[in-house]
Amino acid sequence: SGRTAVPSIKRLDEAVVNRIAAGEVIQRPASALKELLENSLDAGATSISVVVKEGGLKLIQISDNGHGISYEDLPILCERHTTSKINSYEDLQTITTLGFRGEALASMTFVAHLTVITMTEGQIHGYRVSYKDGAMEGEPRPCAAIKGTQIMVENLFYNVIARKKAFKNPSEEYSRILDVISRYAIQKIGVSFSCKKHGDSRTDIHTDSTSSRTDAIRAVYGPGVARELVSVTASDDDPSHSIFKMDGYISSANYSAKKTTMVLFINDRLVECSSLKKAIEVVYAAILPKASKPFLYISIAMPPEHVDINIHPTKRETLLSRSLGVPDEAEESMPVQTQGGRNLKAPVNKL
Ligand code: ADP
Ligand code: MG
Repeated sequence: SGRTAVPSIKRLDEAVVNRIAAGEVIQRPASALKELLENSLDAGATSISVVVKEGGLKLIQISDNGHGISYEDLPILCERHTTSKINSYEDLQTITTLGFRGEALASMTFVAHLTVITMTEGQIHGYRVSYKDGAMEGEPRPCAAIKGTQIMVENLFYNVIARKKAFKNPSEEYSRILDVISRYAIQKIGVSFSCKKHGDSRTDIHTDSTSSRTDAIRAVYGPGVARELVSVTASDDDPSHSIFKMDGYISSANYSAKKTTMVLFINDRLVECSSLKKAIEVVYAAILPKASKPFLYISIAMPPEHVDINIHPTKRETLLSRSLGVPDEAEESMPVQTQGGRNLKAPVNKL
């Protein structure tokens, strides 16, 4: 008699849950690349090279000379929530690594084929093993290797048809990958970076680990911008509240581009902040010819308690406390987005 059937509640298969969660962490090839790059940096690598096929949808291969992964850890390497970087929640307060959630590699195995070759210091051979849905496919096999880790992510989104279809333009995805590497290449000047398309002999990015910051900017963004850079530094001068330090390079009035490039790191983490970018564009508009845009590299250091890095699985957003330690001021927060995510153009205040 006119009653609507009440749908029954069922528990989702773990595989379904994991694939849904994976889509949140790995939104596009550039977000996978960013996670891999951060892992290499966390492993202490001083040399990182990337090879990409079809904008990363066919292949992202990253090789580093970091500390490698021990044989004993290989079985759980790609399980969800397995990490070597924190032990307790409190560790987040003092964390110095870029990763901590233990979700990136796991996520990749739910939406792609992942293969690892790794060797630790003092070993005579390395191991090669592939992963699917969080687990090893067979036992690790001994193989020739050098100290460090190589990870291949193949056929990204092979099982997420709608997502795969959304990426119609591999060259757009490739340029997003180059963008992430470019930004890290100028922040991490002690590390050499390279990136090329599979099959090409020419690299699209190449920096040496001995480069100065301006050398790195020249290598990545070109001599046109490197020639017009002004060094900037700032800090709060009240020593009792000495909590904020900024330094960077910004382009002079002689430089102009069609689009603003703002490379922003807060406590060594790559972030986006469109409200800051807009404010800076307004300042530059007074000195630059119409429709000309600046280049900025800005690195900010502040106490970790003012930056909440754990508000989103991609760590794309970071929550900054605007009062910066002034106790009686209202706690207002400014969300900042991390590079490489999907909603880069979404207004920050909507997130
Ligand atoms: P997280 O970085 O949050 O710990 P990931 O899923 O990105 O989680 O990586 C899981 C673990 O795998 C890391 O904690 C680290 O121990 C190891 N790992 C991943 N990539 C590398 C690498 N390139 N070199 C050495 N260890 C790695
Ligand atoms: Mg990681």
